[in-house]
Amino acid sequence: MKRSDVAISRDGATRTPLAHFRLDAERKRRLIVAVADRVVSHADELTALDAAIGDGDHGHNMKRGFEAVLQDLDLLSAMDLPELLKAVGTKLVMKVGGASGPLYGTLFLALGKALPAEPSREDAAAAFASAIAAVRARGKSDAGQKTMLDVLIPSCEAFSSGDDLAGVKETAALAADATAPMRATRGRASFLGERSIGHVDPGARSSSLMIAALCDELREA
Ligand SMILES: [Mg+2]
Repeated sequence: MKRSDVAISRDGATRTPLAHFRLDAERKRRLIVAVADRVVSHADELTALDAAIGDGDHGHNMKRGFEAVLQDLDLLSAMDLPELLKAVGTKLVMKVGGASGPLYGTLFLALGKALPAEPSREDAAAAFASAIAAVRARGKSDAGQKTMLDVLIPSCEAFSSGDDLAGVKETAALAADATAPMRATRGRASFLGERSIGHVDPGARSSSLMIAALCDELREA
C-alpha cells in the first residue's frame, strides 16, 4: 500500500481516504456522471471492438443504458449508495440488452446489495469481490475466457491488495489490453474460435473504462 493512501483512524487501524468518503448528493452525482460520460464518449470505440469479434452493438447498447442512467441523475444522486447502485443495475438490465445488460446489471445490483451507505475501503473490496462472484455465476464464466471478468478480477485483486487508485486504473487498462491475445471461450466471440485472437474484448474494455472513470473521480476527492 502506498503511504499516500493511508490514514490512521481513531482505533489505530489502517484506513484509506475511502473510509472518510463523504457521499453527499453532489459527490454521488459526480461519480455517476464520470462513469456514464466515460462509457458514452467511448461508444464508437466499443462498437468497433464488438464489430471485430461480436455483433457490433456493445457501444450502442452501453450508451443507451448510461444515457438512461443520466436521465435519472437527480433521483439517483438523492438515493443512498446501495439503493443508487441497485437502481443503476436495474436500469442497465432494462436498457442495455444483449449479453452485457444482464451482466453489468448483475454487477451493479450485487454491489448495491453488498455495500453499506458509507463504505470503508475494506467494505468496497469485499463488495467488489462478491459482485464479481455474482457476474461469474450469471455468465457461467471465469477468468481467461476473454470477457469483462478478465478486467474485473485483476482490478479487484489490485484494489484488495492495497494498490492506490492510479495503480488500480493501470491494472484495469493493462488487463483489457491483455484480452487481445486470448481466445474467447465464452460469449458471442467464442463462435469465432481462433479468429477471436488479436482483438481486445469489448466487455473487458468497457469494464476498464468504468474503473478508470471511477478511479479518476475518486482521486479528485
Ligand atoms: Mg454485442
